[in-house]
Amino acid sequence: MNVTVFGTGYVGLVQGAILANVGHHVVCVDVDAEKVDKLTQGIIPIYEPGLEALVKENSAAGRLRFTTDAAAGVAHGAVQFIAVGTPPDEDGSADLQYVLKVAETIAEHMQAHRIIVDKSTVPVGTADKVRARVAQVLEQRGETALSFDVVSNPEFLKEGSAVADCQKPDRIIIGTEDDHSVEVMRELYAPFNRNHEKIIVMDVKSAELTKYAANCMLATKISFMNEMANLAERLGADIEAVRQGIGSDPRIGYQFIYPGVGYGGSCFPKDVQALIRAADAIDFDAKVLKAVEKRNYQQKTTLFEKILAHFDGDLSGRTFALWGLAFKPNTDDMREAPSRVLMEALWAAGAQVQAYDPEAMEETQRLYADRDVLSLCGTKEAALKNADALVIVTDWQSFKAPDFDLIKQKLSQPTIFDGRNMYDPKRMARKGFTYYSVGRQAAF
Ligand code: NAD
Repeated sequence: MNVTVFGTGYVGLVQGAILANVGHHVVCVDVDAEKVDKLTQGIIPIYEPGLEALVKENSAAGRLRFTTDAAAGVAHGAVQFIAVGTPPDEDGSADLQYVLKVAETIAEHMQAHRIIVDKSTVPVGTADKVRARVAQVLEQRGETALSFDVVSNPEFLKEGSAVADCQKPDRIIIGTEDDHSVEVMRELYAPFNRNHEKIIVMDVKSAELTKYAANCMLATKISFMNEMANLAERLGADIEAVRQGIGSDPRIGYQFIYPGVGYGGSCFPKDVQALIRAADAIDFDAKVLKAVEKRNYQQKTTLFEKILAHFDGDLSGRTFALWGLAFKPNTDDMREAPSRVLMEALWAAGAQVQAYDPEAMEETQRLYADRDVLSLCGTKEAALKNADALVIVTDWQSFKAPDFDLIKQKLSQPTIFDGRNMYDPKRMARKGFTYYSVGRQAAF
């Protein structure tokens, strides 16, 4: 099938690559000429395991092309994916300007029936807005006889395992009431729907809400566990024991119940906020979601508070080694990363940061190029040199079993603040560390 994808970010690029890999002919359109240029040369602007090989192979096979030429993109695909950003606008609602711009572009150039697919995360009612915008432009063009459908097909990939998630999706949500669109979408996704039925067809609004409901449920699990962690810490319990204890109940399960430093990234914070605003707009008070957001906001400062308390409220002149900058492992994404809240609080308190991350150094450099209070170090060991303490923010695999003797040797004080509960407190105390973690008692 011929497919066009607008937007070559995490979602659009991965979607384009996996569709091309099963034999579809994919044209990816982006307004960012530099990005398109790089992609055409096989240079991938983001870090995502397996993506580079997929893009290179399918480009070489002629099934995957990148362009800024929107007209060519619209001419190419019977299916036109919209996979552009939906960032929060000033009040936290989803900003639909990029989505509606693509809708307009498609309408300006289409010469035959098109299935327009909202892949971006968009509020309930967006498909109607896209439909109205397309109809309006077609009317201006005097082409009211041209037919089209707007389908909601939200994306559930996780950054860090985006390729694998798209190749083996848990479910494929198709929101439309048009039988022809369902048939076309089924054909498009047939290669990913072989093992068992994964396609769930529903009305457009339910499909749009499904995406928000999924992200908000996951964010709720995280905030709930962080709340329990705060309680455990204050009541003398151990959240890791509690986690095991509740995860063993199949109705709860072990997934997504890790306490930590709060959720970040480009999706959970903005999607929770957007659903709250959407609820406000219809005078519905989304009480649970507001609490989820509040807990997360507070959780991002808990590590800083522990550091401040340990150093008797004075961090001026102190230096901290920071392991992990990305909002989670296996990505270079720094959007809403808890590390940013922590670093900015440390700097405001007069401290310096020596940081290391396996993938997010370039992005951190771009964000904080002007900060002389930040040194980016080439290795996790280099970040430790003469620091007053080690602070762990992201649970990268390579931080799981470090050389503790070396850490002790390099730090000026053997103190660790672990925002991901990576180590056993008793063992850390035996090794001579003062060790703080989340939802557990400090060990020394
Ligand atoms: P992104 O910011 O990484 O990429 C968006 C791309 O769209 C950019 O390359 C930008 O240049 C391009 N673009 C903007 N306007 C355009 C236009 N008119 N024509 C063509 N290209 C245009 O965004 P992303 O992370 O890929 O997210 C895209 C959408 O998918 C968002 O709604 C997001 O909420 C949703 N989503 C993201 C993830 C994720 O993990 N990143 C997961 C599921 C869903």
